[in-house]
Amino acid sequence: MLGDPVLRAPSRPVETIDAEVRTLIDDMIETMHAYDGIGLAAPQVGVPIRVFVYDVREPEVEPGVLINPEVVESAGLVKESEGCLSIPNLTEIVERASDVVVRGLDRNGEETTITASGLLSRCLQHEIDHLDGVLFIDRVSPLKRRLLLGKWAKMDESERRPAPAL
Ligand code: ZN
Repeated sequence: MLGDPVLRAPSRPVETIDAEVRTLIDDMIETMHAYDGIGLAAPQVGVPIRVFVYDVREPEVEPGVLINPEVVESAGLVKESEGCLSIPNLTEIVERASDVVVRGLDRNGEETTITASGLLSRCLQHEIDHLDGVLFIDRVSPLKRRLLLGKWAKMDESERRPAPAL
């Protein structure tokens, strides 16, 4: 949740994809689905390693996991509304690349490349940001960020429960 230092620190690369990492991946997929999320990064569950899972619930997009991901190409710009499981009930328009090519490892350590546009592209960029300690509120204007943080400060615990988001 916003305020946890783990969300603000860069996560470290995974050196060995062992049983512990695979268990974490399974737990993260379960958590993502439980909260109706479309993506979840390891630091969001308190583990500072470079792993995220995604499931944008589009029939043509296979859900998956990416380990040690990097954006190798990006093109275009698009503005869309965005939210985050770690900052429940806040959304804002965020400008991001419209198309990206992302490379990383799958759960078996095989290199995998994803060419993405639309919601998947936004999701991948949002999750990679998490691995660098960056949140979507960092990608809006200072004025909008102040408004968002002001709203957050006024919320009580029940409003801060995760809602469908990334
Ligand atoms: Zn998020």
